[in-house]
Amino acid sequence: MRLLALLLMTTPAMAQVPIVETDIPPVAALVAQVMGNLGTPGMLLDKGGDEHDLQLRPSQMRALNAAQLLVWVGPDLTPGLEEARASAPNLESLALLDDPATRRIDYAGGGVNPHAWLDPGNAAVWAGLIADRLAKLDPANAAAYHANATTAQAEIAKLDNSLTARLAPLNQPFVTYHDAYGYLIQHYHLPYAGGLAAGDAAPPGAARLSDLHAQAASGAIACAFPEVQHDPALITNLATGTKLFVGPALDPVGASLDPGPQAYKTLMTALTDALLTCAKAR
Ligand SMILES: [Zn+2]
Repeated sequence: MRLLALLLMTTPAMAQVPIVETDIPPVAALVAQVMGNLGTPGMLLDKGGDEHDLQLRPSQMRALNAAQLLVWVGPDLTPGLEEARASAPNLESLALLDDPATRRIDYAGGGVNPHAWLDPGNAAVWAGLIADRLAKLDPANAAAYHANATTAQAEIAKLDNSLTARLAPLNQPFVTYHDAYGYLIQHYHLPYAGGLAAGDAAPPGAARLSDLHAQAASGAIACAFPEVQHDPALITNLATGTKLFVGPALDPVGASLDPGPQAYKTLMTALTDALLTCAKAR
């Protein structure tokens, strides 16, 4: 009887844990950390998928319709998801980039850069925003969401300190495939020479490529990094006839990662490990 009474007491709170969908691995990781043992969020980006070209399959559309809350960066990152969201009228939306607490920067070419999770300060802010929204939807578990967010924020601060120390010696100018990295570059004061492609990963023009090739030939750029979702040919061509060091493929959105609470830390650590190979370039 005692056990039954306990079950009856705890079941209503459990039943109110919202079904949550997310867009990309770093956001899914933050939601997973905040939900802790209470639940696991879904995630819509396929393994190896391009965040700027996210289109939902019918099964993903059904999952979105079954969810109560979508936690996502916002329409600037995944315009395809904005359309899908509009056809799920009962779905609440937490678009993290649109919250005034998020630090936003623009691309070199203008327009907001949505890759804001690459600043750990934003990740910490987002853990708090996620907890606030979940607590509102599920007041019985509010204390757990807030405690989990506090733990996540402490882990992010520890990660940030470690990455700051590791990246401090990196002083070789590098280029990347797409112009996603502004937040990382600014936060860690990295010697970035730009992206081949624009921020939405649209292929670069001939003028851009020949300008970068001249910089590589003169030694003004030391390293170039391809990306996991994009053909490395443009990067390897850039290096032809130059001393440019071609580093490992970067994965700024975590497209190659298994989703889970550790994916944010894994993503940031892998980016750091890859960038540090540039220190061996010359
Ligand atoms: Zn991107």
